[in-house]
Amino acid sequence: MLKTLFPTLSRLRFTVQLVMLFVTVYGSVIVGTYMAGKISNALPALSCAYDQMNGGYCVLIPTQHILHHRIGEAMVRAQQLTFTMILPLLMSFLTFFAFFFVLGKAFCGWVCPLGTLQETVGMIGRRFGIGLRRLGDDDLVAARRVRPVKWLLLLGLVFLLPLLTGLGVTPHSLGNPYCDICPSRVATTLLTGNTDQLALRVSDGWSFALGATSDFLIGFMIVGGLAIRQPFCRICPLLAFNSLFQRLSPLRLTKTRHENCGQCRICSEACPMDIQEISLHEGRKAYTEDCTLCGRCAEYCPQDGTIRLKWGPVTLFSSRREYYKNKVRGELPDGSVKPVRFVKRGEASDAR
Ligand code: SF4
Ligand code: SF4
Ligand code: SF4
Repeated sequence: MLKTLFPTLSRLRFTVQLVMLFVTVYGSVIVGTYMAGKISNALPALSCAYDQMNGGYCVLIPTQHILHHRIGEAMVRAQQLTFTMILPLLMSFLTFFAFFFVLGKAFCGWVCPLGTLQETVGMIGRRFGIGLRRLGDDDLVAARRVRPVKWLLLLGLVFLLPLLTGLGVTPHSLGNPYCDICPSRVATTLLTGNTDQLALRVSDGWSFALGATSDFLIGFMIVGGLAIRQPFCRICPLLAFNSLFQRLSPLRLTKTRHENCGQCRICSEACPMDIQEISLHEGRKAYTEDCTLCGRCAEYCPQDGTIRLKWGPVTLFSSRREYYKNKVRGELPDGSVKPVRFVKRGEASDAR
């Protein structure tokens, strides 16, 4: 006869059932309420949590609790995060990339109002014969020294400080520090006749310092801009931001080597950003982080097809000797034109 451990299984089962019925209904009387809660709050049997004397309760209670209070609330928070943070961020970046894909860094050279204003100030300087002060006339050192500033401003004022302020580490007045020093804020509001943005806020030291920096920058941009081309662009964090993505746009500057390159250097002279690489290098190295895609180098290069402004495979503009000859008749590469001369009335009639 085959021997088994439990000859009468049904009896054993019934015994266990009775014991467990007692444990699940009155269990805490034996082990204590505290222990019961600790060791058996996820039983795979319907042991009811509403029974205050039970030895433990079933897994369905914590499951509902977790779904209700933890996962449900976390999903609401995630949804809020999606709507308040991820979607706006995504929309901003998608919009940026859609625009940037079409025009790339030409937003600097062709669209930015502050770029246009600086160019206008520079034109006034040239008109009145104010000598041009160039950065990096002979080598790349001066331009290279200035270049990291825009990256520092981007990292510190656009990314780091606003984040630290949001986390409560830095004071509220450092929440949008770049806008607080941006000369475009002052310049464009001034153009609408509003002088409010010139006023210094004295609510705290940081606000005052940022406002003073902004006023200094706009002053420097206007006075310095008479002698230095595009003075603010050289430290502009948006130029740094744009240059991060400059390879993503099909609009770009291409440069091949001509035997005169490195000697004539007219393109660098014409460049409002004093970029020396455009005359010294070719290919990718010629299209630097400071380029605003204004196209002046292509206009002033006297060699056919050496510098091109291209959108993908399409050449939008190419350097041409004939174009160069016509161009220099009106304006020299450095932007100088015949200075305005104030003549007295008598002199004018003598001249006639
Ligand atoms: S570098 Fe800055 S200020 Fe200059 S044109 Fe570009 S965005 Fe405008
Ligand atoms: S102007 Fe033309 S030829 Fe002269 S250095 Fe520049 S790219 Fe070369
Ligand atoms: S390299 Fe050419 S396109 Fe770029 S900023 Fe200078 S002149 Fe303009």
